[in-house]
Amino acid sequence: MKALVYHGPGKKAWEDVPNPAIKDPTDAIVKVEVTTICGTDLHILKGDVPAVTDGRILGHEGVGVVTEVGSDCKSVKVGDRVIISCISKCGTCDYCKAGLPSHCKTLGGIGWIFGHLIDGTQAEYVRVPYADNGLIPLPEGVSAEQGTMLSDILPTGYEIGVLNGAVKNGDVVAVIGAGPVGLAAIMTARTAGAAKIIAVDGNKFRLDQSRDFGATETIEAGENVVQALRELSHDGLGVDVAIEAVGLPATFGTALESVRPGGHVANIGVHGESVEFPIERHWINNLTITTGLVNAITAPELLEDIKEGAIAPEKFVTHQFPFGQFEEAYDTFANAAEQEALKVVITNLQ
Ligand SMILES: [Zn+2]
Ligand SMILES: [Zn+2]
Repeated sequence: MKALVYHGPGKKAWEDVPNPAIKDPTDAIVKVEVTTICGTDLHILKGDVPAVTDGRILGHEGVGVVTEVGSDCKSVKVGDRVIISCISKCGTCDYCKAGLPSHCKTLGGIGWIFGHLIDGTQAEYVRVPYADNGLIPLPEGVSAEQGTMLSDILPTGYEIGVLNGAVKNGDVVAVIGAGPVGLAAIMTARTAGAAKIIAVDGNKFRLDQSRDFGATETIEAGENVVQALRELSHDGLGVDVAIEAVGLPATFGTALESVRPGGHVANIGVHGESVEFPIERHWINNLTITTGLVNAITAPELLEDIKEGAIAPEKFVTHQFPFGQFEEAYDTFANAAEQEALKVVITNLQ
């Protein structure tokens, strides 16, 4: 089969590799129909994730058809159309039982293994461990592209932004960073009942998009963001919830300074360096600060929202490529601002 293979920092190739085979009786093999590229894949290609080694097939998102199942698969059947969750899980360890499969002990404490510790979904076929737990049936009426947004991005925005931030009815929510994950938080904050959703970004295209995803106001990134956010809050004291979806010290600082006493700062951003936390000012403020790696356990709930028309994740898809044009797809996604790209999907037309 063909797959997109990582060959060290800056190097990748769409090349011939052996087809995956069932290793454990709980495995399934899925023929990938649609996959997409995540910001994490770009980090891997920069060499930021040393656990990913030469020869690894990239990708952790997608929808496909089950072509083979191991003897212990109970719910998954050959022929099922499925969403591949970015988080694999044994389903029986204490972390899995607690709803934190992102730290599945059986998998060594990390549920994100596709395109990381095992071969991923940017391939014609992928081996899925614990397939009964990691594959979600794709219902009639939900497209493969919509389903692909449930592998990672929508659950990430919802779980790590909206749920960790404890967004409730009537809240004023700031989302710092309106890239795909920030937009996922915006989309799901609306269904969670936020009264006001303020998108902050330096990119005009993303700010325009954010209104279509549910933002009620937008602020262009600049010096007075904190003040502008406070002015848009209920009483000038600050927003109820600030969701950080960039991963830089400055944007984390904006989130921290714009939230009201008793408020929540939900960090989604992937950070590469330390942030400042002026605890001498904030110890008194009853803040809740959360971090997280997606557990993807809300995918079934979000699937219901799609079926009911409450959310429309196809809005993420700005660019489509066929399998074989991964280079072009990566180039587009890596230059998302210039290309006005949100999510880039790659489809197996065979
Ligand atoms: Zn991802
Ligand atoms: Zn587990």
